[in-house]
Amino acid sequence: MLPEVEKLLRVQHHDQKIKSLEKEIAGIPLEAEDIQERLVADGKALEEAKLALQQTEVAIKNLEIDVQTRKDSIAKLKVQQFETRKNEEFQKMGTEIENYESEITGLEDREIELMEAAEEQKNAFKTAREKYQEEETSVKEELEDLESLKKKLESDVEAETESRNKLAAGVDDDVLYNYDRLFKGKNGVAVVGLVDEVCQGCHMKVVKSTVVDVKAEKQIAHCENCGRILYWWTDAAVGKNMGDY
Ligand SMILES: [Zn+2]
Repeated sequence: MLPEVEKLLRVQHHDQKIKSLEKEIAGIPLEAEDIQERLVADGKALEEAKLALQQTEVAIKNLEIDVQTRKDSIAKLKVQQFETRKNEEFQKMGTEIENYESEITGLEDREIELMEAAEEQKNAFKTAREKYQEEETSVKEELEDLESLKKKLESDVEAETESRNKLAAGVDDDVLYNYDRLFKGKNGVAVVGLVDEVCQGCHMKVVKSTVVDVKAEKQIAHCENCGRILYWWTDAAVGKNMGDY
């Protein structure tokens, strides 16, 4: 293999790693969003449980006020009853008192029902809160793991870039410029093998003169279809390079 092509193949190996690491890093914010999203449903359930309990507690307070109002009215009526001398009025007030008392019984029955409901809602709220807190802890841990992964990937990129640049420093400037352009333009595959006269980049058969050029290994040869740099592919060629990476 041409030494220059061999060097490029190694540079490409690092560039491909960097590219894949960067892709992984770029996906992390979305992954973090997905993890945080899990808290939303539990948070909503917790809010709903809290609201239901609050509504019941307000309803109980209102019933207590209603009961007290009636108790106050009864007390007033009893004073008035005591003061009146008219029998008819006395009777009328007595009926009113009875009505209030019966209303109080109804209100108190309702209050007991609501108090029972509030007990259940308290338990439901507690369960929802525990579930939320558990999820919150697990989300926090996963986000921390993700942050560590990001740091590791970033340091991998740094290491790969360092190795890449060391290798690239040994490549002729024009050759490297051309390679970089191809790497960017051809989706991270700039140097490919020629297998059975077929370019492994675009999978097209190349012309005879190209086959001859590639096999001669005298100068850098390009696929006339896609422009990629070609090397003469043999098991030994690839094996040798892979071993060196
Ligand atoms: Zn090609």
